[in-house]
Amino acid sequence: MNRARLSTREECVAADARDALAHFRDRFDLPEGIVYLDGNSLGVLPKAAPARASQVIHQEWGTDLIGSWNTHHWFDLPVRIGAKIADLVGGTAGACVATDTTSLNVFKALGAALDIQRQDHPERRVIISERENFPTDLYMIEGMIRTLDKGYELRLIDDEHPLEEALGTDVAVVLLTQVNYRTGRLWDLAAETARIQASGALAIWDLCHSVGAVPIGLDAANADFAVGCTYKYLNGGPGSPAFVWVADRHVNRAWQPLSGWWGHDRPFEMAVGYEPSQGIRRYLTGTQPMISLATMEVGIDLALEVDEEALRAKSLELTSLFIDLVEERIPHHPLTLITPREHAERGSHVSLRHPEGYAVMQALIANGIVGDYREPEVLRFGITPLYLGYADVWDAVETLRRVLDEELWRAPEFQSRGAVT
Ligand SMILES: *Cc1c(COP(=O)(O)O)cnc(C)c1O
Repeated sequence: MNRARLSTREECVAADARDALAHFRDRFDLPEGIVYLDGNSLGVLPKAAPARASQVIHQEWGTDLIGSWNTHHWFDLPVRIGAKIADLVGGTAGACVATDTTSLNVFKALGAALDIQRQDHPERRVIISERENFPTDLYMIEGMIRTLDKGYELRLIDDEHPLEEALGTDVAVVLLTQVNYRTGRLWDLAAETARIQASGALAIWDLCHSVGAVPIGLDAANADFAVGCTYKYLNGGPGSPAFVWVADRHVNRAWQPLSGWWGHDRPFEMAVGYEPSQGIRRYLTGTQPMISLATMEVGIDLALEVDEEALRAKSLELTSLFIDLVEERIPHHPLTLITPREHAERGSHVSLRHPEGYAVMQALIANGIVGDYREPEVLRFGITPLYLGYADVWDAVETLRRVLDEELWRAPEFQSRGAVT
C-alpha cells in the first residue's frame, strides 16, 4: 500500500477496510469516543482478560486456595509464561521468566553480567548506558555500583559521545534500550550486540518499548541478556510482571544478586544456604503476583497470534502516515519532530516537541486523543498497530490541528499538572 495516497479521511477508512490485521481490534475493549495513543505506556484491556481474572480470583484463589500452587500450576507460571515471551522476542536459544518489574530485572541481569565479567575480565569496571535512557535503568546501575563498592563507574553515551568511542578494554557491560521511550529511536540490536561483544563487553537490552511492536530476534543477534515489561505493547495490565531473558551460555554461570527462595534449587527444603536453581528459575526471587501473571497471559497469547513482520509493516505505515499528515496539515505551528524518519531507526511511537507541550496534550486528551507528555516539551503518540487504524491516525492529527489552530490549549484547566504525566 502506498501511504502517500492517504490524503483524506475516506482514504484512511478504505485502508482500514483492506488491513489484514484490523480484526485484532475486536479482541480489545476500547472505550468509545477516544483514540488511544498511549499503548506504549499502558496497553488496553483484552476482552478475554476479565474472565481470566475472575477465574483466577474466584476459582483458583477463592475456592481451591492453597492447593492451586500445584493444581493450577501457579508455581510454574513465571517459567511457563516466560517461555511464551522467549518466543515473542525470538529468543529460544535462551530462557526467560516473567517476574518482578523491569527495574528489578535490570538489577538482576546487570549483577549476573558483572559476575560473569568478574570471572573472565576482572579488570573491566565500566558500565555503559545512554544519557537518554529511561531513568530507572540508570538509577538501577547507580544502585548496583554503590552496592558493589568495587570502583565500578557508569559511562554515558549520547550524540556527542557515541557507543563506538565509549567501548574499550575497561568496559564490562553495556545496557541499551532498543527503542527510546522519548524519541522512539530504534537501535539496530544485532549490529550493536556484535559491536559490543567484539569489544569484549556483554550487552543487556531493555525491550520495554519494543516487545510487541518491533521484531527483536534475540537468537539471531546472539544476544546476552534482555529485560522488558508487559504492560505496554503486550497489554498485560497495570503493573503486570516484567521479564528477564538470559542466553543459554550464560544462564548457569552467575548468581543474580536478588537470590531469594524462588530461585533456590530446592525451595521447599527450606535450607539455610542458597543454591541457585539450574536454569532460568534462578532469576526468580520471591512469591509472584498470580492474579497479575494469569491475567497478563491473555495479552501475551494475543501477541503470539500476530505475524511480527506484518505488525511491523503496519506500525511503520501508521507512524509514517502520522508524520506526513502532521507536516502536510499543520505546517504553521512550532512542532518539531524528534522521532527518526528512517524506518530502520524508528520504533512504534511518534514524538513532537511543542513549547506548550504539556497544555497541548491536556487539550488533546480533553478532545478524545489520549497520548502523553514527557519532559521536555514532548508530545508522545504511541501507535499500537494491533488495535489502531489509519482513520485513528487521521482523527488524531485533525484534533491536533484544531487544538493548535484554535489555541484550545490556552484554557486555564490545561495548565496545571497531575502527579502522573
Ligand atoms: C517503561 C520502562 C521501564 C519501566 O520500569 P518498571 O520497573 O516497570 O517501572 C523501564 N525501562 C524502560 C526503558 C521503560 O520504557
